[in-house]
Amino acid sequence: MTAPVAPNLRDLDEARRTFRWADARAALDGLPGGGLNIAHEAVDRHARGPRAEVVALRWRGKAGAARDVTYAALAASSSQFAATLRALGVAPGEVVFALCPRVPELYAAALGTLKHRAVFSPLFPAFGPEPIATRLHLGDGRVLVTTPALYERKVAPIRDRLPGLRHVILVGDDWDRTVGAAPTTYEIAPTDPETPALLHFTSGTTGRPKGALHVHGAVVAHHATGRLVLDLHDDDVFWCTADPGWVTGTSYGIIAPLTCGVTCVVDEGEFLAERWYQLLERERVTVWYTAPTAIRMLMKAGAELARRHDLSAVRLAASVGEPLNPEAVVWGAQVLGRPFHDNWWQTETGGIMIANLACMDVRPGSMGKPVPGIDAGIVAVEPGEAGAAGAVVRELGPDQVGQLALRPGWPSMFRGYLHEDERYRKCFAGGWYLTGDLARRDADGYYWFVGRADDVIKSAGHLIGPFEVESALLEHPAVVEAAVIGVPDPIAGDVIKAFVTVRPGVTADAALNSELLGFARKRLGPAVAPRSIVFAPELPRTRSGKLMRRLLRARELGLPEGDLSTLESSS
Ligand code: AMP
Repeated sequence: MTAPVAPNLRDLDEARRTFRWADARAALDGLPGGGLNIAHEAVDRHARGPRAEVVALRWRGKAGAARDVTYAALAASSSQFAATLRALGVAPGEVVFALCPRVPELYAAALGTLKHRAVFSPLFPAFGPEPIATRLHLGDGRVLVTTPALYERKVAPIRDRLPGLRHVILVGDDWDRTVGAAPTTYEIAPTDPETPALLHFTSGTTGRPKGALHVHGAVVAHHATGRLVLDLHDDDVFWCTADPGWVTGTSYGIIAPLTCGVTCVVDEGEFLAERWYQLLERERVTVWYTAPTAIRMLMKAGAELARRHDLSAVRLAASVGEPLNPEAVVWGAQVLGRPFHDNWWQTETGGIMIANLACMDVRPGSMGKPVPGIDAGIVAVEPGEAGAAGAVVRELGPDQVGQLALRPGWPSMFRGYLHEDERYRKCFAGGWYLTGDLARRDADGYYWFVGRADDVIKSAGHLIGPFEVESALLEHPAVVEAAVIGVPDPIAGDVIKAFVTVRPGVTADAALNSELLGFARKRLGPAVAPRSIVFAPELPRTRSGKLMRRLLRARELGLPEGDLSTLESSS
């Protein structure tokens, strides 16, 4: 066992009373020329100090290769990327997309983009061509960093739909020739903290994906939560298992740990229980940030496998992204010797808002308490005359279920949905930011997740908008109507099930069913495609023509349909 390490935060109530965001800002460096830039805080300031030769990224390739990248080296490679953007004539504010496996170049591209004050938008490599095209188009991507294989399979088929995309940089020879030949120093221009930095796409019930925009000032929250919630200490070896294509993999897989100057394990491979245990053991991971689906897959692989590995270096194991069932928390305590610390946040909040802290007793099944600097509440929202802007918001008491809401103003709060001001405004009412989640708070101030207030689906940690899946299905000539719901799955939380109505004269048989599954998978990619499809003679809609997904779900799960008058208010 390693020697006990005192948590950075020892008394939550005390910290909540004394915490000021201005103090958290003062813990950062600031640019020599003025302002605040994420990449300076994450790499350059360490590269110029005593931590220059500390390993920033301990990269482990999927086929056994390994590379250690120091803070000095990461500062240099990210500067090369920034200099490349400048040479290409990319203007600050333009959007650089990445569709990349977890390789060191992805991290150099992210930080280099931020140095150049362009906006970084990471995409899941598991997306198919359709979600990629939609996001590149919405974000008006100027530059795309990808690999030759991903380009061939996923971008080439949609390239002609992206006239704004001017430069594609392919990791490998192309990168080595261009980025690798650029200067290794880059002076970051003064960066106002309100400068746009990151664009993360998330999903709503209706319409296209939403591009949540974050600014450089968010780094104050990333750093503070890295220290206070993930409890990062200088010598930590930290492993965030999330891909940067999901906001967790950027906020906590890149920014927070690097601003804290720790060593980040970056695993290029996909989940494999044995491999994960080996990584934890060999790299002596001390702080581990993972997700419920992965934990449940580890549970399925059995405690025996875990016990064959020395996991004693792990001091703190945290989980995010989906409801963490109490059994998983307890399993952690039995197998790792410590429970999983669940925490809650979402793309829009940019950083952790509610958490079971290292210093707190974990309540299995609870997301924890609001972290210092964050005021949360449970509210009832009654629509007013003028939509959400005129909505009446009433704060509820202990044990009442309502919408989880936060008082706006923390540094990593999103600053808008790209090109959708109205949608952004609707997230705020009565002095609250409304999260779209239903929750309750117990008498001791712990928050408990209840469900979503809308129809979006969380499957294996991915937030999936039903509309995006339905739209892909509707492109098949045999389909006239499609509705998509999440159905419970013991591992993934929910999996996607589609209900499809076919054109008259088309035979709805097994062959068509597998054709549709393949069609959707090819377009959407495995992370978003439906797991199963059933044919339905017709789909339930409201009188105004809105799909009643909730009714389909209630019928599917044998739940009372009577709930629906209240549930069917999402948009
Ligand atoms: P995303 O924006 O993709 O990170 O998804 C955010 C959503 O994931 C939240 O609004 C919740 O619905 C869900 N979520 C995140 N963390 C938790 C958690 N600890 N427990 C339950 N649901 C969570």
